Amino acid sequence: MKIKFLTGTNKIGGCVVEISTSQARIIIDYGENLDGSAQIPIKGLTDSDLSKPPKYNAVFITHSHGDHIGNVSQIRPDIPVYMEEKAMIINDIICDFTHKFKNKVRAYKNPHIKTFTFEEPIMIKDIKVTPYLVDHSSYNSAMFLIEAEGKRVLHTGDYRAHGKKGVLFIPTLKKIGPVDFLITEGTTLTRNNKIFNKETNLIQDLMPLTRYDQIYFMCSSSNIDRIVTMYKSFKKTHLFLNDLCMNSVAKELPNIPNSNTFKDVTTFITNRQKKDPYLYYLHSTKKVIEELPFSQKFALSTKTSMRDYLASHQDQIQNACLVYSMYNGYRRSDWPDKSTYEFVKFLTEDLHLDFYEYHTSGHGDIKAMENLFRYTKPKEVRIIHTENQEQALAVAKKIYHDKVKLVHDGDIVKL
Ligand SMILES: [Zn+2]
Ligand SMILES: [Zn+2]
Repeated sequence: MKIKFLTGTNKIGGCVVEISTSQARIIIDYGENLDGSAQIPIKGLTDSDLSKPPKYNAVFITHSHGDHIGNVSQIRPDIPVYMEEKAMIINDIICDFTHKFKNKVRAYKNPHIKTFTFEEPIMIKDIKVTPYLVDHSSYNSAMFLIEAEGKRVLHTGDYRAHGKKGVLFIPTLKKIGPVDFLITEGTTLTRNNKIFNKETNLIQDLMPLTRYDQIYFMCSSSNIDRIVTMYKSFKKTHLFLNDLCMNSVAKELPNIPNSNTFKDVTTFITNRQKKDPYLYYLHSTKKVIEELPFSQKFALSTKTSMRDYLASHQDQIQNACLVYSMYNGYRRSDWPDKSTYEFVKFLTEDLHLDFYEYHTSGHGDIKAMENLFRYTKPKEVRIIHTENQEQALAVAKKIYHDKVKLVHDGDIVKL
């Protein structure tokens, strides 16, 4: 078996790994680069000339974050692409709201889009791929166990163990058992990966904010755990308001707060959402309001698209706070996309909202990594999805000891 690290050994997001045997060749993840640069084209995977046969037998997608699924539409339509069904639905909804229409799986004309079920193996010639459900800030994320030619490789995708599905982590690792080779994400290795706050602890942390009449919270529409956290924190004291994107995602999933099936949830829309591409979502949404209920207490999922509305109602914004509940890099002035930075500045400086930051990472802490190592007992480890391979390796050595080695884009490991 051969593992080729095509890209993503020294950056977060856009990681692409190839695994091959003498009979078959597969790719894991083909997402966008977070800095907005184009993903690398791959011969035999992304070529527009289909006269030559494809070089790959299948692509597997770990989860719905754009840095893993975002470039699926560039894959040759004669290559099967496997993903989890809800991950595909979430991706397509968010693409509509972020106007990344070309990244929608439904808009991509590939007759070989296939959905997988957790723990049901898929055979790609002599390569057996088994997806396992893993805790991450993206619904129904997968890690893949890849078995072929007598070797077992685990690709973790993005994962953590302190979220709502964290209880599954050790039992799943026990089911997977020892592996020969571990390919694991290392996002937090360079970000002080001490023990992270549990998702469920955020509820108590947020409770004191119920003293505000108006709570404007910002979190990702794909972070389903966080939507539930916000709902549980504020539903007793405040009217809970989803934005249209968040509601459109939530109503597709079982028992996630949304205005179609939850009595105490309402959806707030802005004027611009009364036209395409939002009409499709608007028409399938119940309990929609177009004006914020300033006379009562509310907690609103707040998006940058609400800026004009909030600016024109600023005299009604009183006793209000902003709860920032996403990765803090997005609100830094040096982040490639400045929209979050500018929006937070507008809310706090122009509208004078009190600012609070409550977040817990979507990625594993040191304890999760130690458990990963303890239960899978890999003979070799490589880190991907890290902003600095050398710095990450220095920290990783404390966890994976001499099993972990430096890896660069283009490296091939033979097992
Ligand atoms: Zn990622
Ligand atoms: Zn992710």
